[in-house]
Amino acid sequence: MIERRTLRFEHALLAGLELPCFEAAGDQDGPHLCLLGGIHGGEYSSIAAVVRFMNELDTGELAGRITAVPIVSRPSFEARTAFVMPQDGKNLNRCFPGSHDGTFSEVLARHVFEELIAPSDFLLDLHGGDMVEALEPFSLYDESAVEEQARALAVAFGLRYVVRSAPTEAPISGTTTSAAAARGVPAVIAEAGGCGLLEEDAVRVHLDGIANALRHLRRTDRFEHVPDILCNGRFDPELGDVPAFEELVGSHGGLGGTQAMPFLLSPVDLPLPDTPIVGAEELHRAIRPWAELAMRASDETAPPEQETETAVPV
Ligand SMILES: [Zn+2]
Repeated sequence: MIERRTLRFEHALLAGLELPCFEAAGDQDGPHLCLLGGIHGGEYSSIAAVVRFMNELDTGELAGRITAVPIVSRPSFEARTAFVMPQDGKNLNRCFPGSHDGTFSEVLARHVFEELIAPSDFLLDLHGGDMVEALEPFSLYDESAVEEQARALAVAFGLRYVVRSAPTEAPISGTTTSAAAARGVPAVIAEAGGCGLLEEDAVRVHLDGIANALRHLRRTDRFEHVPDILCNGRFDPELGDVPAFEELVGSHGGLGGTQAMPFLLSPVDLPLPDTPIVGAEELHRAIRPWAELAMRASDETAPPEQETETAVPV
């Protein structure tokens, strides 16, 4: 079920501000995602993507809940002010987690943080390159105690570049994702589009990214067997390796050493799916029929000599 409602906030500075909001509840249980657009009012492709995604969403296919606000900076959207809010000239995405005593942007940030971001399990904040920005699509997450979950979500979104933002060196602060991460909510900013244009290609990038991210959340939420404690080494960027934990494996190895690019090496005459293999379950589904083929082959004649192999990414 999808409910469409209007958000209003209890603060004198925000009187009269109305933000359209979608509340989607899936038929199955699952995580609660906060999906934001229009933190910057001139980033039209990301705003359009949130609206279209929620209008086309089939909650029969959804596990969990989505709270979506397509245009958070409605005053900036209506005034067509790039980056900043017309009331105070501040960039909303430098004001999080905000304050009850500040100016318009700081107060709005506080209410968005408390009422939308903090109660969620994950945050996806879509941006679209503001009126004067032309950019290569990328996603961003912040260094934090929940960064592994945030990084996995950022990678799942599927853009070519993923940026990790460290608070000590960050040229910017007060973003949605940094405030969310500090509260323990894994969060990703995804950016595609730009130049104040509504571009179908960029909207499509966002729509695919949201669908990818939801598939990822649904998959990880579904695991029947999960550990209470998971010990693993951290990735060492200098060594390009995951150090072993107490002399045990740090992560999967591969042919000839550490495996940085997962692939499946197999004889060419064994069938493989046409689509990319993502996740252990799909790999299992892809190679399980090989066992049946092998059983059948052993019943018939000896298998032919296999001199060639093929490698596909997984
Ligand atoms: Zn932006």
